[in-house]
Amino acid sequence: MNSLISNCMKLGFGLMRLPRLDSGEIDVEQTKQMVDDFFDAGGRYFDTAFVYGGSEEATKKALVERYPRDSYYLATKLNASSFACKNEEEAKNEFNISLERLGTDYIDFYLLHALDKNNKDTYEKYGLWDYVKKLKAEGKIKHYGFSFHDQPEVLDEILTAHPEAEFVQLQINYADWDDANVNSRKCYEVAVKHNKPVVVMEPVKGGTLANPPERVMEVFKEADPMASAASWAVKFAASLPQVMVVLSGMSNVEQMKDNISYMKDFEAFSEDEQKVIEKATAVLKETDSIPCTACHYCTPGCPMKLHIPEIFACMNEYKIYGNLERAKNGYAWRPGGTKASQCVKCRKCEGACPQHLPIVELLQEVADTLE
Ligand code: SF4
Ligand code: SF4
Repeated sequence: MNSLISNCMKLGFGLMRLPRLDSGEIDVEQTKQMVDDFFDAGGRYFDTAFVYGGSEEATKKALVERYPRDSYYLATKLNASSFACKNEEEAKNEFNISLERLGTDYIDFYLLHALDKNNKDTYEKYGLWDYVKKLKAEGKIKHYGFSFHDQPEVLDEILTAHPEAEFVQLQINYADWDDANVNSRKCYEVAVKHNKPVVVMEPVKGGTLANPPERVMEVFKEADPMASAASWAVKFAASLPQVMVVLSGMSNVEQMKDNISYMKDFEAFSEDEQKVIEKATAVLKETDSIPCTACHYCTPGCPMKLHIPEIFACMNEYKIYGNLERAKNGYAWRPGGTKASQCVKCRKCEGACPQHLPIVELLQEVADTLE
């Protein structure tokens, strides 16, 4: 793989979930300590975004003003969604705002943010691919790529249309590796096919894999009583050969120290360690959840246009990991604004479901739990 970074720990510092004070402000002093620990351990890759409220400004104070600019890699992102900008001009101006907030005159890794099948045309319409190409020609960015949240076919489409993208950022973790909704493995394979270095996001699945179900934890403890569940998750992603760096969105000094402890002298998983992950994944799958394969056969006939598999995926977040707050947060945006309680019980979907799921009853359970 043609890595775009060198002399850098394979752990990247995700700056999305920085520590906050009671006032709600980012705790810059604690962030400084985290940056120092990260640097001491050989960490050099920092990832923020225009839409991570306050993160770019805090990065300026904790990193940019304290370390030589050529001693680290700085990544940030341009978001063309309507919540971030209203038109092409505003979208393009995000770059200038990011430079100002960060107190720098160039970005090492600039990403078009969170592309999927619904928003990718907006990035085309606003001419943002040509824009980042121009920024690179002017020396204002070193490399450009995009982060991605959709199915492998969509990723293949984007990389075929834009072979100039230098890297991709993907959601990869062992729980989503063969998950029909996320398809980490297939997305990774598309990146390999196009020979793009991969930046990994969500290796711990938003923190859920740091506290997996008890039976999964037993698998890890049996293999290594000292290793944390998070270490298994991060090292799984880092062991993939096409992966350039694994981002962890660390929120305090303790998380930083834990991550450094196993990533400082990182070595890819042995065959035995890989088998432990396979066992843990199998145990995770046995956990009581809705066996929806996200085939979408049920959705075209639904008169209420419910995003049934996405609704079930949110419910499974709760069933598998027991984190009601996270499941409710996901439910608020993932099913495209549709709600389980909108179901009119016509049962058209059930006749189309190859898994013969009692969709109406399951939707009722979702409405009772997540609404
Ligand atoms: S039963 Fe509900 S989910 Fe199924 S097709 Fe009818 S309205 Fe849609
Ligand atoms: S048809 Fe059944 S398995 Fe397929 S997405 Fe719909 S509920 Fe899930």
